[in-house]
Amino acid sequence: MIWRYRRKETKENFEAIVGKYFSLKVFVFMLIAGLQKMTLIDYPGKVAATVFTPGCNFRCPFCHNPELVHSSHFTVHGNEQVEKRMDEFFEFLEMRRGKLDGICITGGEPTLQPNLVEFIKKVKGLGFAVKLDSNGTRPGVLRKLLKSRLVDYVAMDIKASPENYARVCGVEANLEKIKKSVELIRDLADDYEFRTTVVSGLHSEEEFKEIADWLSGSRRYVLQAFQDQGKILDPKLRKEIAGKSIDLEKLKSFFVGKVREVLIH
Ligand code: SF4
Repeated sequence: MIWRYRRKETKENFEAIVGKYFSLKVFVFMLIAGLQKMTLIDYPGKVAATVFTPGCNFRCPFCHNPELVHSSHFTVHGNEQVEKRMDEFFEFLEMRRGKLDGICITGGEPTLQPNLVEFIKKVKGLGFAVKLDSNGTRPGVLRKLLKSRLVDYVAMDIKASPENYARVCGVEANLEKIKKSVELIRDLADDYEFRTTVVSGLHSEEEFKEIADWLSGSRRYVLQAFQDQGKILDPKLRKEIAGKSIDLEKLKSFFVGKVREVLIH
């Protein structure tokens, strides 16, 4: 088994939503949980739209998209609705040709979607650049996308140092797969970033030295401070991290000279 789910519902709920559509005879189906029609910040240097996919195999307590993580929160009413959403999405793209540069695909965890590759082929076929956000748990999917040059930009989360991964992502992650994804992205991606949402109290300052060694030689690393915007996956986290702080500029200094570009967002 690839993942040991601390919460049994994690896998079962996702399959309950996605699995029942495996038999759909639709050329390209992907479950779309939401669409942001324009963003200037999600895709570096591009005007883009963002597609949200439901379901995630992580349970990061600070996740600000709980409705996407628990796929039981995502309801679709039959195959027609899945098809309708797909049709509406591609009609939207047709109308935005020449106005948008790219499409960001985020989640949840998009690589869990069974037809992600076909979906991206169709988006690329319409002339849009594609940025993919991933937690790096499915290197096989990343390899396929990168080798076929279907993704123009990859943003992969580095949740923590290897020792602290399970605590930060909320499940027992397969670190070999995470490390494989890092290698694949470094070797094959046209452009990419690794990024960490820094949560004082979940992360220690010291572990960023380890992350800096791990990512040494990479193109870009982004540190982003966790901001509680009122909706997180595990509200108990608030008590755990109350009053704690971490200096992002200091963390950044660990990466300077190791990673070509280090950014704080
Ligand atoms: S932060 Fe990302 S990887 Fe973590 S649970 Fe939320 S969607 Fe999944």
